[in-house]
Amino acid sequence: MLQNAFDPAVDGQGKDVSRRDDLISRLERSSETGRALIGEARKRNVRIGLSDEVGAACGLYRSSEKLILMNKSYDDDMLLPNLAHECRHSMQDIDAFAPEHSVRSAITITRAKEADAFAHECAAVFEMRSEEVGVYLDFMENNPEVFRPFVQAYNKNGSLDEAKAAAFEAFYTDETFVKTYDSRTVSFYEKGMKPGKKEVSGRELCDKIAPYMTPDFFNRDSARRLAPEIEKRLAPLTGKTSAPSVVKNRCAER
Ligand SMILES: [Zn+2]
Repeated sequence: MLQNAFDPAVDGQGKDVSRRDDLISRLERSSETGRALIGEARKRNVRIGLSDEVGAACGLYRSSEKLILMNKSYDDDMLLPNLAHECRHSMQDIDAFAPEHSVRSAITITRAKEADAFAHECAAVFEMRSEEVGVYLDFMENNPEVFRPFVQAYNKNGSLDEAKAAAFEAFYTDETFVKTYDSRTVSFYEKGMKPGKKEVSGRELCDKIAPYMTPDFFNRDSARRLAPEIEKRLAPLTGKTSAPSVVKNRCAER
């Protein structure tokens, strides 16, 4: 696996190195958010590489190795927004699967990390709308539920933070998307990982992941609601037969 990843300081991988470097400079050139994300990743000594072992994903960030891997089988226009997304993951200083966290906390943190990475991806793509028109149009076509609210919020008053908050919130409305991440999170515990008891607070989520959100967002039913099948899988892990403490307003569930 690591033969396809490389330290920015190490050369010798030929084509992949120049492709990786082209992607980095395209992101830095076309977007202020992208430039800031790459700058911060660099400061944190995060390595970036192309790989053919990323599965179906566009890319991934492996925190244990401080390593971003982009799927080399995707074309560069697809990888460019994802590079911003994965760089943002490398800055999120909270481990969803830390031993002290409850399963519910792991779900909440994972959701918030994805929503935040997605919101930054939206910001980067929005800023590249004149320089990378093709990337912008493709991204809008593939992610209208999250990107459209971002653009609408930005056009309202020109605030990048408010636009990010709109995208963040919109992420939670895509039930299939959220369920996919929830399912992946729960499966770690189903494989035997032991959960802790700590419930993460809205304040902590804002401080460590999304400073442009307010803590009360994370207490809303729209942010906490779980799909019935996830709730069912959660019950044996938390030792409860039903999960009334998990969802705040069960009667409000549709
Ligand atoms: Zn992600």
